[in-house]
Amino acid sequence: MAENGPAMMRPTVPEADRLIGVKQPVLGHGYVVLVDYMGNDAAIVQAARVSYGMGTKTVRDDRGLIRYLMRHRHTTPFEMVEFKFLIRLPIFVARQVIRHRTASVNEHSARYSIIPDEYDVPLVGGTFLQSKKNRQGRGEPAPSEVDERFRGELDRLCREAYGIYEKALADGVARETARMVLPVAYYTEWYWKINLHNLLHFLSLRLDPHAQEETRLYAHEMAKIARVVCPIAYEAFEEFTLESLSLSRREQRAVRALLDGATPEAACEKAGLPLAREDGKPMSTGEGVEFLEKLARMRAPD
Ligand SMILES: Cc1cc2nc3c(=O)[nH]c(=O)nc-3n(C[C@H](O)[C@H](O)[C@H](O)COP(=O)(O)OP(=O)(O)OC[C@H]3O[C@@H](n4cnc5c(N)ncnc54)[C@H](O)[C@@H]3O)c2cc1C
Repeated sequence: MAENGPAMMRPTVPEADRLIGVKQPVLGHGYVVLVDYMGNDAAIVQAARVSYGMGTKTVRDDRGLIRYLMRHRHTTPFEMVEFKFLIRLPIFVARQVIRHRTASVNEHSARYSIIPDEYDVPLVGGTFLQSKKNRQGRGEPAPSEVDERFRGELDRLCREAYGIYEKALADGVARETARMVLPVAYYTEWYWKINLHNLLHFLSLRLDPHAQEETRLYAHEMAKIARVVCPIAYEAFEEFTLESLSLSRREQRAVRALLDGATPEAACEKAGLPLAREDGKPMSTGEGVEFLEKLARMRAPD
């Protein structure tokens, strides 16, 4: 008979267990479901103790250790926690999420199965104009007539496309060919498995205000689940990554100038962070503008 190793308990989190299989709705037809998870804050601590040989045991020590690991980017203990999600999301969101190569993905096959007639149309007032500052993002809400027209035309296009899809299937066209007609507003579904370290990297990019709103909504649901499974690690992530700011060499020069009493504009000038173009017109983007945005973030109350 094999000799028993050290006594080990499978770490579980009762609140997370209650989330398993529960659909967290996102957008009109989407959701995030926690299918399974492995590990919790204790699993991170357990792995770290192997490398440090630490004998600390209290919750306070665990929190300190996790915060130390996060601060010093000792990342492998965070890889000991795994999440498996079932996610239903529009194809235009899926195209962004799939870029995160560290997740293991298995997607619904539109070659094998028929795509359900479900697509995403912005809610009333949910159409925005192109941002003037950010070439990728959205800016002000669109005038109501533009909002109404866009949402109506998208809806009509999707219904028409689905009609062509159904007709093609009825004519015997292969599912893998017929699907070509469907817009990216249609939904797909996949299992998405990822470890905590990579999930936090995903969240740092996709919870950011620069990320597309629809993708952020999915990231928010995953973040809520991660917070339940690993509250201490998630809190450390918020502290040292999500809500932290990095300062470039020039930005540090500007901060030194600020500490010496310079105005923000003078500090930028001194540090070589441009705020105006050669013709004197103020810049709307760039390193100087981003530095001022960081200062504004620091001034904002918690
Ligand atoms: C706001 C925003 C705008 C974006 N705009 C565009 C765009 O216009 N066009 C576009 O194509 N993409 C765009 N992207 C996608 C972006 O460039 C990344 O592909 C995506 O965010 C995945 O990031 P990642 O590679 O860090 O993640 P993952 O693929 O999860 O990788 C995690 C980390 O693993 C390492 N890694 C993984 N694979 C490799 C590899 N092959 N070689 C080296 N290191 C690797 C890297 O350190 C990487 O950071 C955008 C992303 C965001 C958040």
